[in-house]
Amino acid sequence: MKYDYLIVGAGFFGSICAYELNKLGYKVCVIDSRNHIGGNCYTENKDGINIHTYGPHIFHTSNEEVWKWINQFVSFNNFINTPVANYKGEIYSLPFNMWTFNKLWGVTHPHQVQLIIEQQSRHIGEPKNLEEQAIKLVGKDVYEKLIKGYTAKQWKKDPKLLPASIIKRLPVRFTYNNNYFNDKYQGIPIGGYTQIFEKLLDGIEVRLKTNYFTDELPEYQKIIYTGPIDKFYNLMHIIVFIFC
Ligand SMILES: Cc1cc2nc3c(=O)[nH]c(=O)nc-3n(C[C@H](O)[C@H](O)[C@H](O)COP(=O)(O)OP(=O)(O)OC[C@H]3O[C@@H](n4cnc5c(N)ncnc54)[C@H](O)[C@@H]3O)c2cc1C
Repeated sequence: MKYDYLIVGAGFFGSICAYELNKLGYKVCVIDSRNHIGGNCYTENKDGINIHTYGPHIFHTSNEEVWKWINQFVSFNNFINTPVANYKGEIYSLPFNMWTFNKLWGVTHPHQVQLIIEQQSRHIGEPKNLEEQAIKLVGKDVYEKLIKGYTAKQWKKDPKLLPASIIKRLPVRFTYNNNYFNDKYQGIPIGGYTQIFEKLLDGIEVRLKTNYFTDELPEYQKIIYTGPIDKFYNLMHIIVFIFC
């Protein structure tokens, strides 16, 4: 059978495209190199616990239409992401907000915070590297405890050797708001994410353990590719090279 669309990837992007195209009457085939649907949002139920295999996922949007659309497939709990940072046993609220500053300095008012940040960064002119830029934005204490180690680990480099441009902005709130996301609608699907994909792909041809680059593919007219784009274009370069 020749498909109108070959969709590479059964994550949110691919599965939603498949669902909507199928509804419009197109013949769609979805492939995924993994052995399951859901992409990075895949959840598996083990002993009654929904495990987010590729890391925790919180659904968040301020778009009412999106929220209504997704709620036709699943109900959400009222989970609000309020992360904390553990610095040598001291617990701090993230993103940086008045709870963080109160714990650090015992202050209760935004003016006091601004004053401390100013005092701690007065010696820095135009920031020459990430360290100076961070201190300028949030002061030395926040930098030393909550940015320095994390950044060094993330980039595998001393922050002094990283360009200032990496963190031109850092989210700082002068309110007692611990909510990580600013979006109006937030939550985690009750029962996990996988059921959403099962519903989206219901009645659609899905071929798992099928890699776009190495496996045999069905005939198709158009492709929707949701994998790493650099990989896709590397292949294109090779094809162009062969034909030149
Ligand atoms: C740890 C972590 C936490 C996150 N937390 C959140 C969060 O809390 N909230 C949020 O909104 N977003 C979060 N995200 C981002 C979210 O995961 C992505 O935005 C979302 O999964 C993107 O969906 P997608 O369909 O584009 O890609 P994916 O979910 O990555 O799906 C792409 C699929 O394509 C398949 N594929 C790739 N290449 C090929 C190939 N050559 N052949 C066949 N199949 C292929 C892959 O196997 C994969 O299943 C998080 C991401 C990570 C990694």
